[in-house]
Amino acid sequence: MNIVTSQCKTTLLLNNAWQPINAITARAAFSHLLKGHITALDKNNNVFHSLDRWNKDAEFYEDQPVLRSAKGVWPIPTVIIVTSKFFRRPRKKKLTTLEMAKIYNFTCQYCLNKFKIADLTIDHINPKSKGGTDDHENRTLACKPCNTRKASKFPFFNVKNEPVAAPEIPALMLNTSKVREEWEYFLGSV
Ligand SMILES: [Zn+2]
Repeated sequence: MNIVTSQCKTTLLLNNAWQPINAITARAAFSHLLKGHITALDKNNNVFHSLDRWNKDAEFYEDQPVLRSAKGVWPIPTVIIVTSKFFRRPRKKKLTTLEMAKIYNFTCQYCLNKFKIADLTIDHINPKSKGGTDDHENRTLACKPCNTRKASKFPFFNVKNEPVAAPEIPALMLNTSKVREEWEYFLGSV
């Protein structure tokens, strides 16, 4: 099948306790459905176990995402549930710069100004050169100028003369910029 799709994350993946795990692409969602690894929920929260039944009987949202191929248009489920085994939500041990930036609203933890992602860095609160680790507890968000100014000084306070700490890791970080309306019910319990 010659499938054309964008890489935007259209589908919320739930474990079999109906807890959100992550957002995945239309292509991944469709492939899981095809292989029978998941069940799909439609607009009315009816459960579908096979692609056939999904295509025939599911009711779709007005903005249901679709895959287009030479053979037709295929609706993509927007909420799917893993059936094969119990998936634990992966515990994040370390955050990327983007994840850290989202938590801190793109604000440098030293000068407390907002920056573009390209101007933000992960800073080791206690510098590695002084024995600081690369563990989450020792990482925070700094703009490039602050990171340079700080160099290997420790302790190094923010503009309010307060010590800087690592953020708490949220229970769930979705790797998507768009949250679909029907996901909110499942995300509400996180
Ligand atoms: Zn700064």
